[in-house]
Amino acid sequence: MLVSIVVPFYNEEESLKTFYDALTDVVNSQSDYSFEFVFTNDGSTDGSVELLRTLVNVDSRVKIVDLSRNYGKETALIAGMDYASGDAVVLMDADLQHPPFLISEFLKYWSEGFDDVYATRRERKGEPFIKKFMSNMYYRVLQSVTEQGVKVYPHVGDFRLLDRKVVNALTELREQSRYMKGMYGWVGFKKKEIFYDAEERVGGVTKFNFRKLLKLAIDGLTSFTTAPLTVSGYLGAAFALVGFIYGVIILIQTLFFGKDVPGFPSIMTAVLFLGGVQLLSLGIIGTYIGKIFKETKNRPLYFVEEVISDEK
Ligand code: UDP
Ligand code: MG
Repeated sequence: MLVSIVVPFYNEEESLKTFYDALTDVVNSQSDYSFEFVFTNDGSTDGSVELLRTLVNVDSRVKIVDLSRNYGKETALIAGMDYASGDAVVLMDADLQHPPFLISEFLKYWSEGFDDVYATRRERKGEPFIKKFMSNMYYRVLQSVTEQGVKVYPHVGDFRLLDRKVVNALTELREQSRYMKGMYGWVGFKKKEIFYDAEERVGGVTKFNFRKLLKLAIDGLTSFTTAPLTVSGYLGAAFALVGFIYGVIILIQTLFFGKDVPGFPSIMTAVLFLGGVQLLSLGIIGTYIGKIFKETKNRPLYFVEEVISDEK
């Protein structure tokens, strides 16, 4: 049985060597399986690729898929899966935040017949409270608006083992805005959850800033549900109703009690508020149209500069 370890990386020269050493330690003790390591270079601008090249020369299990630019982790993952030939594929980060010793546990459950063994973070060390809070809220909203029958698995990263069946299913989904966390749930298959404690990264810095995370969050919502579109419809209806009732109240007050029609402040409030809601709804519609635009171009997901391996 061949197991492919797929590792997307972007500027990880500070972690890659430590990562490789830790990985081989674990893998060499697994004598029942043979392994290959598929490193996908997501457009690194540092010395990561040179470092890996030296490894290709000494370890024939190492393969580098060198993408033509930085496409983002989700795309780097699918590229890795496209080039992985194993009967199972393990996805993991290059910064040792995903402890390699869990691989033996993955393999145990895989041999018991599970197709998708995924590791859930028990504790997020070194992450600020606000980030944890926001991510909790986000998953709750996402699950509540996602189509029925599709389960969103909260706090589940990409650290997992996938059977060939699941890999084939995932690589068949060629959509442009890829939200892997949702796709694992969407394709289904027999899943098994295990737990681990996330460590701090061994070197370098996180490649996900707030802007990237926000983009990922919006992508997640808009690729898995059209609920935001419906919500803007409801909002419109609610405000129309409130406006109507308020109109009736003013009418009664003026006709029967002779009160002056309240003036400028209330009008301004209503105009600004409604204007805001309208723009928000337009923005939501726009986001979906933008997605349609991207998908209809039907471009390939990525281009490969070079595949570096020792097979000549
Ligand atoms: N990564 C990538 N392309 C990107 C950003 C990140 O391939 O555009 C890789 C990165 O090198 C690492 C993994 O994705 O191996 C997870 O990234 P990171 O550790 O920065 O994210 P965090 O753990 O902080 O969420
Ligand atoms: Mg990390």
